Amino acid sequence: MVEKEYIIVGLGIAGICLCEQLSKHNKSFLAIDSGVKGSTAKSGGVFNPTVLKRFTAAWNASGFSPVAVTFYKNLSGKLGKDFFVETPIFRIFKSVEEQNNWSVASDKNELRQFLSSEFLKNKNPSVDAPFGFGKVLGTAQIQIDILLSEYRNFLFKTNNLVAEVFQYKDVVQKENGVIYKNISAKKIIFTEGAKAIENPFFPKQTLIGNKGEYIIIHAPELKMETLLKGPVYVIPLGKDHYKVGATYSRDDYSLDPTEEAKEEILSKLKSFINCPFDLIMQTAGIRPTTKDHRPLLGNLNESPNLVFFNGLGSRGFLMAPLLSEILFNYLEKETPLPKEIDIKRML
Ligand SMILES: Cc1cc2nc3c(=O)[nH]c(=O)nc-3n(C[C@H](O)[C@H](O)[C@H](O)COP(=O)(O)OP(=O)(O)OC[C@H]3O[C@@H](n4cnc5c(N)ncnc54)[C@H](O)[C@@H]3O)c2cc1C
Repeated sequence: MVEKEYIIVGLGIAGICLCEQLSKHNKSFLAIDSGVKGSTAKSGGVFNPTVLKRFTAAWNASGFSPVAVTFYKNLSGKLGKDFFVETPIFRIFKSVEEQNNWSVASDKNELRQFLSSEFLKNKNPSVDAPFGFGKVLGTAQIQIDILLSEYRNFLFKTNNLVAEVFQYKDVVQKENGVIYKNISAKKIIFTEGAKAIENPFFPKQTLIGNKGEYIIIHAPELKMETLLKGPVYVIPLGKDHYKVGATYSRDDYSLDPTEEAKEEILSKLKSFINCPFDLIMQTAGIRPTTKDHRPLLGNLNESPNLVFFNGLGSRGFLMAPLLSEILFNYLEKETPLPKEIDIKRML
């Protein structure tokens, strides 16, 4: 029998943050991941502490943001790959009214650090933005492919990762721990994203899948190096390729790209880009969202050794680093979970 303190099921951003917490505190663990692309792999990789529809701060932005920035910088250093690229978001203004709303918002305490009070004029002939841009600070583009592949390689090399689909039927719950196949552990932590709805131990009613689709375009004349936010995001991928999206479709767990989403993204894109482009591909992923837009952490009373870290919704990159610390302190130091993120609130 192999003995570990923790088994982590799933290696998206939640699993990565948790593995890092456990390593930091010298706790032994084994991660199990199927290798099937989850929400993290399909995401835009935008690190953004604000809500750019309404010019407000994201929930607890000033708590999540500094912890996350330090986390990603440290992890970049550890992996020797700079996947956390700090870059502003240029938010296209639709009208003078929006400019005024931005000015008011940028003067608020919680937003001053994120919304620059200075307006930018558009100098890009391929972009239609007659009212200019607001510049969002403290934002970054996370190069997801690099993060995910480098972290997997790192765990493989240190013998901390098994690439397989976790078999729920092989879980044996004991009073002081769990056994999974030939591994005995104190606890299993499920960081499975929207796939958790297939987990028989997970309370399914707590999660609402929200499908998001992106297209990837090749636009040699666009020449954008920063993140651009109009009715959709334009995210530079290098070599004149851009990710454009995303859509939102509630309670949808299917992964097939749809014609409807493609048309929606194209029509929104053409409302602020006037240069030619080729459509290269379309992708779809499922956001693990919840009714109250708050994460799901902790365990159920009937199975104390099966723990969940889920419900990251559309803000996984912002929230996962601090939430993994909170979960660690709950598990190792018996620090109670704040009610608003405790999975038990939903039962
Ligand atoms: C289209 C789209 C765009 C998005 N854009 C952004 C963005 O720009 N910024 C942002 O912050 N957030 C964004 N999000 C949200 C973000 O992706 C999620 O909040 C976050 O990635 C969820 O991470 P997770 O680790 O919980 O789940 P996931 O990333 O889904 O990871 C779960 C992992 O578990 C594995 N797994 C599941 N079940 C099993 C099993 N039984 N056995 C083995 N392995 C298993 C999966 O293969 C996967 O690797 C976006 C989401 C979508 C869909």
